[in-house]
Amino acid sequence: MRILLVEDDALLGDGVKAGLKQAGFAVDWAQDGVAAKLALETEEYALLVLDLGLPKLSGLDLLKWLRANHLKVPVLVLTARDTVADRVVGLNAGADDYLIKPFDLDELIARLNALLRRSVGQVTQTLQHGDIALTPSTHQVSKNGQTIELSAKEFTLLHELLLHIGRVQSREQLEQHLYGWGEEVESNSVEVHIHHLRKKLGSDLIRTMRGVGYVIDKLSASV
Ligand code: CA
Repeated sequence: MRILLVEDDALLGDGVKAGLKQAGFAVDWAQDGVAAKLALETEEYALLVLDLGLPKLSGLDLLKWLRANHLKVPVLVLTARDTVADRVVGLNAGADDYLIKPFDLDELIARLNALLRRSVGQVTQTLQHGDIALTPSTHQVSKNGQTIELSAKEFTLLHELLLHIGRVQSREQLEQHLYGWGEEVESNSVEVHIHHLRKKLGSDLIRTMRGVGYVIDKLSASV
């Protein structure tokens, strides 16, 4: 899952980015409103974490622009100003949730996962494929009912492939979900994670299409 973090406070931004990465998200960090707008115009994000007090273009103006252009990315607003008026303005402008600074990183991650669940829009979140089940909200994967331990990146890859069953995902597409801006992409990282996934979940789950990418095929019985 790729997140855009918009925060001009270097120390806070750095800490939040590290925490979100730890939780398995790919994070792009923009430090002013104009950079954030550019990112939103060119990349696709699962979530936006938005500070309201920003240089160049305020968070509120960015939010208004976002909704006026029908960009539906869920937005969690960060605000230092604990006033009812600010919260109401933010929520009216299209924010989906907000946190008052200072906040707890675990709470931010829990709220973001809740927003993701809502934005996907299903009541039950478990993706099932044969004997494999993946639940995004709890980051759990099981095979035949047995819990399988996956790293954050393995989980993200499996999640992406299960969301696109029968459709080949290129290595570049998959890397997009694993790495944020400026993060060094290990050259064979996708291959290595796929290798681990096969060892943990079965060698025939993920098919390699040489030179094209990876796919989890539809089960023949479930057309
Ligand atoms: Ca700020």
